[in-house]
Amino acid sequence: MSNENETPYTGAGKLLHQAEALERILDTCDPIREAEQVPLETALGRVLYEDIVAPMNVPPADNSAMDGYALRAADLPPSGSGSLRLKGRVLAGHPLGSTVAPGECVSIMTGAPVPDGADTVVMREQAQAAAGLVQIGPGHEPGENIRRRGEDLRAGDTVLPRGRRLRPADLGLIASLGIPLARVFRRPRVALFSTGDEVCNPGDSPRGGQIFDSNRYSLRGLLGDFGAEVLDLGILPDDAECLRSVLREAALSADVVLSSGGVSVGEADYVTGVLSELGTVSFWRIAIKPGRPLAFGTLGSRSLFFGLPGNPVAAMVTFIRFVRPALQRISGQAPEEPPSFEVPCRDALKKSPGRTEFQRGILRRDDTGRLCVEVTGRQGSGILHSMSQATCLIVLEHDRGPVAAGETVTVQLLPG
Ligand code: AMP
Ligand code: MG
Repeated sequence: MSNENETPYTGAGKLLHQAEALERILDTCDPIREAEQVPLETALGRVLYEDIVAPMNVPPADNSAMDGYALRAADLPPSGSGSLRLKGRVLAGHPLGSTVAPGECVSIMTGAPVPDGADTVVMREQAQAAAGLVQIGPGHEPGENIRRRGEDLRAGDTVLPRGRRLRPADLGLIASLGIPLARVFRRPRVALFSTGDEVCNPGDSPRGGQIFDSNRYSLRGLLGDFGAEVLDLGILPDDAECLRSVLREAALSADVVLSSGGVSVGEADYVTGVLSELGTVSFWRIAIKPGRPLAFGTLGSRSLFFGLPGNPVAAMVTFIRFVRPALQRISGQAPEEPPSFEVPCRDALKKSPGRTEFQRGILRRDDTGRLCVEVTGRQGSGILHSMSQATCLIVLEHDRGPVAAGETVTVQLLPG
């Protein structure tokens, strides 16, 4: 394909500080306005569109935390041992239907409702039953072994807020309130494609000089992990006209259009130029490594566009640091950064001030059991196996110089 009339983008491209780049991105993102009802069975990872307010107490009634005997605290022996008349038993799901009177007890199972009159449960192992009588020893607390009505959730409380990304425990919590459906934000739709005449599909027979597309697979993984809906547009050749028509089409249906490759100043890099025709270019170069060429802007009237670098590590790192926070905001999610902490670095690291660097790290324990990080070996932006081995990114701040072995660094856990 020839592109004689097309020239690479040459618009002013100041190297932006990564914090400013992220701020610009987030300022451009609006949460999706549409909501949908989904059954709890499929609600994992979805973002709540409205608060969940408890319609009832959980547990709904006082119930036993143990298998044992339910009795009145007033009947507990202050010293020595006492004996109570065993008047029956309560199983989980089967209320007694009568009152435990002074001098009486009932055998009770875990989860069974505490009968009227009783207010204490003595564990089965701490009592002896024989001939219709139960012997109780000293040292019991009034009210022990009872789960109180509403001790987990109180009727009327906001249990989970709008913007919460639902985790496994959240699903159980909503179910415990008897609620079978959740109102959630529509998932963000992300159109994804790779660019490059040299890039072909795994399964194809590569022509001379071709490489297999890895970016679309790692990015699909990151998008799937995030919970986005992916429109996979495959691989585009280095051809401005083709890029134009695909971007126009994608902008009609996608919230976010995501490409990799073709954002530098090479003679076949058309992404930024076409973006400037069809939308706006907010920036296309950031002071980071890896990932310096990262184009961001808007496309058509409602889509955001990210042109990620072609190098496989750079594509993933820029997704994690810039696209993921944008997707969170678009999804309606409250901002949530992956956990990060300070640990000593076992290796010396090269670093020049003036750009933020993200090296791939593995968290380990040293000989004394203290957490530390080491790098995954070679750090080139094409060394994708370093990303596969890594458990974290080592974040080397913009103004920082070289790191000596043993110095403290910030690490951020990788998602997924
Ligand atoms: P580019 O920014 O298009 O010049 O690409 C930078 C480098 O990343 C080149 O070596 C490309 O061959 C490589 N690359 C681009 N796209 C992909 C892809 N989808 N999968 C693997 N490598 C790629
Ligand atoms: Mg290319």
